[in-house]
Amino acid sequence: MDDATIGREVLALTRELIRIDTSNPPGRELPAAVLLRDYLLAAGVEAELVGRDPERPNVVARIRGTGGGPSLALCGHTDVVPADASDWAHPPFDAHVDDDGWLWGRGAVDMKNQTATRAATIAILARSGFKPAGDLLYIAQSDEEDGESDVGMSWLVKARPDLRVDFALDEGGGDRLVLPDGRVVITIECGQKATLPVLLTALGEAGHASKPYVGANAVLRLATLISRIAQYQPPPRLLAPTRRMIELLSGPVTDDVVGDVARACAVHPWVADTLPALLGSTMAPTRIHGSTARNVMPARATAEVDCRVLPGATHAELEADLRAALGDDLPYELDWLDSLNGGAISPIESSLYRACQTWVDGADPGATLLPVISTGFADSHYLREHWGTVAYGFWPYRTTPITVHEQGFHNKDERLHANDLVYATRAHLAIVRTLLSG
Ligand SMILES: [Zn+2]
Repeated sequence: MDDATIGREVLALTRELIRIDTSNPPGRELPAAVLLRDYLLAAGVEAELVGRDPERPNVVARIRGTGGGPSLALCGHTDVVPADASDWAHPPFDAHVDDDGWLWGRGAVDMKNQTATRAATIAILARSGFKPAGDLLYIAQSDEEDGESDVGMSWLVKARPDLRVDFALDEGGGDRLVLPDGRVVITIECGQKATLPVLLTALGEAGHASKPYVGANAVLRLATLISRIAQYQPPPRLLAPTRRMIELLSGPVTDDVVGDVARACAVHPWVADTLPALLGSTMAPTRIHGSTARNVMPARATAEVDCRVLPGATHAELEADLRAALGDDLPYELDWLDSLNGGAISPIESSLYRACQTWVDGADPGATLLPVISTGFADSHYLREHWGTVAYGFWPYRTTPITVHEQGFHNKDERLHANDLVYATRAHLAIVRTLLSG
């Protein structure tokens, strides 16, 4: 198939998906799942809806392997975050394509583009008569953005262990960075941090607000504790992918890790935004609460702190970081708001990783994959944790500037250049063929 034919097919499918409003909550992914299932059935792929909630099914499709090879799933979520149309240059569920080839709409980058290109990859391979060595699966899962309903990937990995795959490609990665020395690196997500939210309560003594020097206003203590959290830098800890990332960006890691990190951050704004959060726990105070009355200085004031820890880090390690940040001269309490969630990682020595690099070598000669741990949470976590799947986030794009791509996530005016739908489909076709040709 030539690029123009692929482009027409994948753009049409992506636009149809965007036009189905799957804002989550509430999700209502059924029509999107039906669209994808019917598209794959028409290409001769076995495909079914699998779900706990009939309004929110997942799509599972498969080209059976001839045996003797690893299995691979191409995955993507069908839901999106809500959009307020009044903020947008083009209505978020119209899937408008402008004269310059930009596709506008909710899900254009997160991630109906990916869900559609992966479906198109399977359809094109099926029509070409491709016989993979191992099973090639397609999973389009519901409920990623909210994830509270346990109907999407979190449910599927438990309900259908028979679908277990050796390898998977899901959300994330594919950002192309041009370094100051002209080298090119392309990100591949190979792990995610875990979330572990905590409630910080500053303790004081209640008093009348007319005499602020009497008593111990817990709000002021909370302010001090929050500023300590903001200033705290945990000692840097380099996981294998982060070490590799620094080495690729700025040379060997030395005893001066702080200096190494600074040099790596200087090579690209994307690195400066990302790398510091990959060196240890982060703690972001988000919601605060003080007195119930304006004229009462409270004895207790609270801050919810959104904490993210590295894969493998424990509860105890985060608590040690928090207590080191907060000091021991002000009274406070810590209460865990949820259990540790997430934090799985896949090794970067794998045949899927090599297949991705092989595609890079052909499509973007000289470029190198840059392994990255994500600071966010995506469904690859469930694949890694429950199935032991080696999962990466990798959806390469080339025409859309990285800043436009990044700004699109959960934001107004989300858009993607249509050329990238072809580019990514070509990448997936090549990677599948490299990994699964018998
Ligand atoms: Zn997403």
